[in-house]
Amino acid sequence: MAVIGSGIIGLATARELRRRFPRAAIAVLEKEPRIAAHQTGHNSGVIHSGVYYTPGSLKARLCREGSASMVAFCREQGVPVEVCGKLIVATEPAELPRLEALLQRGLANGLRVRRVDAGEVREREPHVRALAAIDVPSTGIVDFRLVCEALRKLLEADGVELRLGTEVRGLARANGTHLLETSAGEVQAGYLVNCAGLHSDRLARAAGADPGARIVPFRGEYYELVPGRRELVRGLVYPVPDPALPFLGVHLTRMIDGSVHLGPNAVPAGSREGYRKRTLSARDLAATAVWPGWWRLVRRYWRTGSREIWRSLSKRAFVAEARRLLPDLGLDDVEPAEAGVRAQALARDGKLVDDFLIVQGERATHVCNAPSPAATASLEIGRTIVAGIPDLLPGP
Ligand SMILES: Cc1cc2nc3c(=O)[nH]c(=O)nc-3n(C[C@H](O)[C@H](O)[C@H](O)COP(=O)(O)OP(=O)(O)OC[C@H]3O[C@@H](n4cnc5c(N)ncnc54)[C@H](O)[C@@H]3O)c2cc1C
Repeated sequence: MAVIGSGIIGLATARELRRRFPRAAIAVLEKEPRIAAHQTGHNSGVIHSGVYYTPGSLKARLCREGSASMVAFCREQGVPVEVCGKLIVATEPAELPRLEALLQRGLANGLRVRRVDAGEVREREPHVRALAAIDVPSTGIVDFRLVCEALRKLLEADGVELRLGTEVRGLARANGTHLLETSAGEVQAGYLVNCAGLHSDRLARAAGADPGARIVPFRGEYYELVPGRRELVRGLVYPVPDPALPFLGVHLTRMIDGSVHLGPNAVPAGSREGYRKRTLSARDLAATAVWPGWWRLVRRYWRTGSREIWRSLSKRAFVAEARRLLPDLGLDDVEPAEAGVRAQALARDGKLVDDFLIVQGERATHVCNAPSPAATASLEIGRTIVAGIPDLLPGP
């Protein structure tokens, strides 16, 4: 059995495969020389509680269950984790009805969320400006790279092979098995799980599955507070998000290492691994340009998109946005930090696919949309994928 990708979803899935198929040969194929090299190693490090997601969606269920299993896993494995809670704050009167709707959604998702007034926000976060807020106590922080290191140790102890520097370049079928053409030779697999993140749609199509969507890369850029100004933020502070978009807006995040990040924004990236503004890939740009959904998205959101691009180009504009939450923030209080690139699936009709998308192929499962909060939900996503594999393989 082969898992493509050693991000957190691939590693969590490999662990579940080993549990269900204790005697099967299992290999994780990763094109990079290290694990967690892409989305999993470039994110906000927040264990989301599940407040935002449509009740009944995979995101809502797997995030809620996944945040609990992630915290338990970290405690068991000695990975530093902190359940610090978070505040979602309204800074304008117009945001109050949306804050209330979010509170109701959190309750519908079974979370212990509560409304807090401006005074309580000031006590918890003296530098944050708020008219009102929601307290989400089950939110936590972690370094997902360290979670992956812990998963890797467990997998290696359980005889799962991790093949780094092995890029899957082509897929074919013969005699009921998959033939994977890789940069390190041919690999045969009786079952395939595609957890290739930013490249998952291409591999799904190469395996004959139709995800009905394309991955469009959205870069998320961050600044961080200079060490002398970290006292401006004590915990996690989020704005009220635009309900039409799957991005949460520029937020303030105290990371598990004590640094404080501001961001991420969401700007279209010129390459699926375009961590810098100037990184462009003709292949990736062409793939986006020929997808009808892209132009429908642009028509719908060009105004929001232009504002995001402007904030990406201008530090002053980025800081002005963050100042809505943190009025004392000065231009010299922040310095640029490493960016991440989101693998966001975009449907043909121009809608950003909101829920996790897991597509069943022939003796194959393809994870075709696993954006935030998929790192939080990863252990449960792995369980769901493996539970969905038909009983056609050598069992225990
Ligand atoms: C800016 C940003 C902030 C985020 N914040 C949070 C957060 O706070 N909390 C949260 O829960 N989630 C967050 N997320 C989302 C989270 O990071 C992702 O949902 C999660 O990491 C997805 O994991 P993955 O394993 O699917 O993808 P990845 O980590 O991208 O892994 C995919 C792997 O597949 C490999 N691969 C690709 N193609 C091939 C190939 N052909 N052959 C072999 N290997 C291949 C890649 O090299 C990569 O290692 C954030 C994401 C971003 C970008």
